[in-house]
Amino acid sequence: MATMDIQSLPQALPNLHLSRRDMLRAAGFGLGAMGLGEMFAAPQTAAVSDKIADRFVPAPYAGQRIEGLLGDRMRVNLEGRLLHLDEVRVLKGFQQRPGEQDWIGEHAGKFLHAAANTWLYSGDERLKALMDLVATSLIAAQLPDGYLGTYPDEKRWTSWDVWVHKYDLLGLVSYHQATGNAPALDASRKIGDLLCRTFGTGPGQRDIIAAGTHVGMAATSVLEAMVNLYRFAGDHKYLDFCEYLVRSWSQPNGPKIIESLSATKSVFRTANAKAYEMMSNLVGLAELYRATGNPVYLQTVQTAWQDIATHHLYLSGTASSAEHFTDDGVLPAEESSSVGEGCATVTWLQLTWQLLRLTGEPQYAEQLEHTVYNALLGAQDPRNGDICYFTPLNGKKSPTPGINCCVSSEPRGISMIPQLAWGQRENGVAIVLYAPGHVSVDTRNGTIGIESRTNYPADGNVVLTVHPSKPARFPLSLRVPAWTAKYSATVGGQQYKGIPGQFLTIDREWKAGDEVHIDVDLTPRVVAGGSSYPWGVAIERGPQLLALEQSVNPAVKDLQASGPRTAEVKLADADPKQLKWRGSQAYKLDGVEAGKPRELVLVPFADAITYRVWMLKA
Ligand SMILES: [Zn+2]
Repeated sequence: MATMDIQSLPQALPNLHLSRRDMLRAAGFGLGAMGLGEMFAAPQTAAVSDKIADRFVPAPYAGQRIEGLLGDRMRVNLEGRLLHLDEVRVLKGFQQRPGEQDWIGEHAGKFLHAAANTWLYSGDERLKALMDLVATSLIAAQLPDGYLGTYPDEKRWTSWDVWVHKYDLLGLVSYHQATGNAPALDASRKIGDLLCRTFGTGPGQRDIIAAGTHVGMAATSVLEAMVNLYRFAGDHKYLDFCEYLVRSWSQPNGPKIIESLSATKSVFRTANAKAYEMMSNLVGLAELYRATGNPVYLQTVQTAWQDIATHHLYLSGTASSAEHFTDDGVLPAEESSSVGEGCATVTWLQLTWQLLRLTGEPQYAEQLEHTVYNALLGAQDPRNGDICYFTPLNGKKSPTPGINCCVSSEPRGISMIPQLAWGQRENGVAIVLYAPGHVSVDTRNGTIGIESRTNYPADGNVVLTVHPSKPARFPLSLRVPAWTAKYSATVGGQQYKGIPGQFLTIDREWKAGDEVHIDVDLTPRVVAGGSSYPWGVAIERGPQLLALEQSVNPAVKDLQASGPRTAEVKLADADPKQLKWRGSQAYKLDGVEAGKPRELVLVPFADAITYRVWMLKA
């Protein structure tokens, strides 16, 4: 895989703030107004229970470990990105209003969400100190009436002001949930109370739709954050406010999300088709379904998901060109097409994760793997954690360390990987992502430990060792990828065959040390270019999309004139070291360039730098 030497990373990266932070920590700044008891409090549980119980319950962050490709990329996310937050700049707009631009306030909350997840998983003390510093400073900037934005008084609730409060809430509630920090929940309540007072249909109240861009969707996407606040604060007025947000969509000036999706079944024909904002509202609607059980909410989310998955998804598992959904099957993939905003990738991942949790159905699990291995990791520079705003399928990646929406969103998506990988399903264990590592899953049959040994996705062999706290009968659900031609799992001398796109459920009596040997066929597949690339083909291997990478094909003069020589393809392993390639996977393909035979080398899209996914078909 595209690995890196973590030890050498600090020297390779500019803007290290660690020594200053270490001084702050030494001075006890991180503790601030909080007592030690709060600092070390256990993760918080919800104050109210949901109406709908999840059918897939992610394994807790603590106590699990993911190594291999996914583990390396999470480490890069921590070391290269999260620990390098420019906290002075992301906090300044709150401390000296107005901020330098309209949405500068979103970054503090986005960081807190990614950092809370990553700290729960890693226990990294440097990250904890930085997270405490950001949370404490953010809370200190809150005005007495609860306002925690970056706008001067006369500009309040214009442009992206509600949006910024959404990210304050998401960040502070995540931080509270992870650490038990009480001031973070108090500050969140004050924000929620201010929003409840300010917006509504009562006398003197403002219209939420008029308070945000993109047909009001930027403002109403505070829905997800308000459901979270309701869940942890327990005050019913927050839930009432969520129902107001959903009703506001139907106003004459609103985005009509429910009516439009019900009538057209099309995200492209709904509101202004802005991908990130619309999917953010749908993530909120999924949360509201969990809290209320209103079936219309789930149906709406599923309708949108199905339309995106069928008509609007790039082969890399992201959506949007120039930040908007395009018409059915129109998927321009060049650098000039502004492909797959990073924020849209992460919100698509969150939407899909919501549906996996709510339904336990395998098509959502399948999509999570696809988006993680391609669009999500493809937008991260594996050397230093820099992030691409857009990630073309043909062209050059342009990762940056700066401050923009996607540089703050992508680390949130990467921080979610342990929540996507495995969990409880039907009172047993479900494996969604195959990766080396271990996990403990709580079920009604006791705690079940799973140890996983594999080089996946480089090869398709996985050995799971099952460690139930006591011998017990329970189902082990193994996701069988939709793309595999052959999948088998062998345990206790018995072989089980998987059906592609389904869970293979092995329901038996398990005892400590039982081993499951899994064999997933990774035979490469050729994908047709569709209406946008009718002359093109792409090649996938296992969960990974491959790319014709310029730097490992120095003899190729014209990538665009190159492709496989035959309609069916075979790949042979190439040696990345010999190719001086930064990744750990590379494959030789019998190809052509401008009609002449030429050996081509493909690498995973997630590792590629200058490349083409769409090659000339044979
Ligand atoms: Zn973005």
